[in-house]
Amino acid sequence: MTAHQARKRFGQNFLVDLAVVDAIVRAIAPKRDDVMIEIGPGLSALTAPLLGQLEKLTAIEIDRDLAARLRQRFSVDRLTVVEADALQVDFRQFGQALRIVGNLPYNISSPLLFALVDCADQVRDQHFMLQREVVDRMVAQPGGSDYSRLSVMLQYRYQIHKLFDVAPEAFDPPPRVTSAIVRMIPRGAERLQALDEKLFATVVQRAFSQRRKMLRGVLGEWTAFIPWETLGVLPTWRAEQVSVAGFVGMTDALFTAGVRA
Ligand code: SAM
Repeated sequence: MTAHQARKRFGQNFLVDLAVVDAIVRAIAPKRDDVMIEIGPGLSALTAPLLGQLEKLTAIEIDRDLAARLRQRFSVDRLTVVEADALQVDFRQFGQALRIVGNLPYNISSPLLFALVDCADQVRDQHFMLQREVVDRMVAQPGGSDYSRLSVMLQYRYQIHKLFDVAPEAFDPPPRVTSAIVRMIPRGAERLQALDEKLFATVVQRAFSQRRKMLRGVLGEWTAFIPWETLGVLPTWRAEQVSVAGFVGMTDALFTAGVRA
């Protein structure tokens, strides 16, 4: 087989450090019957060891040449190759208790994480390699500059654990930044839920749209509907100081006052 030329537009940085591959697969801990979906299998650095422990795997790959290689290398009974843009795939078609994994193309990581929220009820867990800076934002707590819309929207729906960093030298070609592995476990039915999740998303987006501005400035006419004292939030705070529970409380008060997304 001829060597594959890495394509920048598809965010192709292939894992070549076998110790890192092993650490990732051990963190995922596949069981034979798991329903696992890999996003961006590439040259199968993770695909092959995962398939060593699984009965079957589904892999979504956008690059036609890489999809063809995967079909050549693995039998169709074991590996289902979906040649598609993962952002266009409806993950609900794959069933329940999904385990989603991938060394994600960094150019689509945020939109993909947001898109996967819609099928979180069908997911058991997600393990991703991302830019370390993105993982730091995902796990950030209120009060720091890493705390952002991404932190609030994902922590609302998942328990998120940063597992370990991966240096650029683990890839070919090496990316310019350090990466990290993250584990995401969807929160169950007992989770804190906003009365209206669309409105929750709108409130969070609006609050962070001008993150240096005080809440009363950025929320404008909504300010009067929020029981600040009861929520333990001040109108002079900035979005980065408000906890997930604080945003849920603000959303519920606005919804009760008749505000809609
Ligand atoms: N998993 C391999 C590894 O660890 O070496 C490859 C990882 S590489 C960072 C990202 C992979 O995702 C590439 O194979 C790339 O072609 C694929 N990819 C890029 N954009 C994609 C998309 N929108 N949907 C599905 N796969 C995509």
